[in-house]
Amino acid sequence: MSTPTASDSEKLPIIFDDHTDPTTIELQYFIDTRIGKNTCKARCEFCFLDREHISDFHQDVEQAREMIDKLRAKGYKVVPIVSDSFAENGKYLRSGIFHNNDGWYMGNAAWSSGRPLLEDNYNEMLDLCVDNGIHTIIMTSHGTEDREREFKGLTQPSIVREAVRRIKEYTERTGWQLRIILTFTLSRRNSSAEDIRRYFDYCESLEVHVARFNQFADMRNTHPQLRMSPDDVSRTYRTLREVYDSRTGKVQLSVSEDFGFWGVEVMNFPEGVGHCVAGERLFGVVYPYVYACPVNLTVVSGKLTEDGDIAWDEAAYQRLMRAKDHPEFGGCIGVAYPHSPEIQQMLEPAVMKPELMDLEPAPAELAMPGLTWPGMPAARGSASYAVPVLGPALTPPDLATPALTTGSQARPAEAQPELVQIRLGRTQSTTTRE
Ligand code: SF4
Repeated sequence: MSTPTASDSEKLPIIFDDHTDPTTIELQYFIDTRIGKNTCKARCEFCFLDREHISDFHQDVEQAREMIDKLRAKGYKVVPIVSDSFAENGKYLRSGIFHNNDGWYMGNAAWSSGRPLLEDNYNEMLDLCVDNGIHTIIMTSHGTEDREREFKGLTQPSIVREAVRRIKEYTERTGWQLRIILTFTLSRRNSSAEDIRRYFDYCESLEVHVARFNQFADMRNTHPQLRMSPDDVSRTYRTLREVYDSRTGKVQLSVSEDFGFWGVEVMNFPEGVGHCVAGERLFGVVYPYVYACPVNLTVVSGKLTEDGDIAWDEAAYQRLMRAKDHPEFGGCIGVAYPHSPEIQQMLEPAVMKPELMDLEPAPAELAMPGLTWPGMPAARGSASYAVPVLGPALTPPDLATPALTTGSQARPAEAQPELVQIRLGRTQSTTTRE
């Protein structure tokens, strides 16, 4: 993807998060979820990766590459992710794992807090973008002024501005076009037309290419006053549209799908955008677990096997589908889960907790691709605990241990043809056991 160029008369389309292809199952595969000194060099209060069960996770890059290759060979679209693309002094970029990684709707992109680009070796880091065919760098700008947001640990806008300056200087010197996306998180407090105009003005003054907006999720349950109501979300969609339509500058608008479906019609996005397919055709992977949403990374949908299959958890899927019918679900698990105690309760049996983690992959026998549905990480005796119907050879020794590998199956996969279609994006007639 090249740097967008727009004449004044040409309005670039609004970028949306594109998961509209029903034949694709996308796995956002996290190789390193750590934050702090070895990766993003920051520790934002609301970082979605700052969670006990994933805070120390990093996988050997060769092991990750092997698993990614296997998953791709099975037909999954796999997007490798690390908490900061420049983590470990560029180790992941040097590994080649991001080489021409163009499958993502943003194109082959690097994302960063901006802090790693303030080190002396920033030219070397940007050279690695060239080596990997990366043309986009995404950074979060927590407002336009330092200390504008009161959250702890945030990378301040002045740091991001300096990173922008260095990226632009690099482009000028080398001719390698790098499209810069700045992301702003909107809450009840900063989603007026005036705020959004200010963010666009800021992006124009820095000559970045895209202003991206996402919705505040109160991950730690500490700022309920900032959460958006359905009306706030509808109003914000309208405001984003109106402000963008009224501007003549060249900064393109990108809207995260985490705003969901309340009022999304004003955006004229393709059908389905705003109804995130997380947990259906979009997942986050933190080895060996497959999570329903790559941002929430809380609700477990399945577990990888050594062969690069996924032992899907059918009961978790059913639970998630019921949660998506709840009136407080606005289209995004990442926002609805922290904001709705009822949705949390509905999903509780599928929620990962540190004490439930074992880092072995699931037995290969549990996962014929897309056709088997092992059991829940639910404690015995809970309503969700399904009686195992797998054969004795597949029944693990200690069924009292709540873990995904204790495969149980609510009903045979053959009884669920519509789910097979959803998982694999194929009609049932093309889905065969291997
Ligand atoms: S459900 Fe997850 S992946 Fe989908 S929009 Fe929300 S945060 Fe993003």
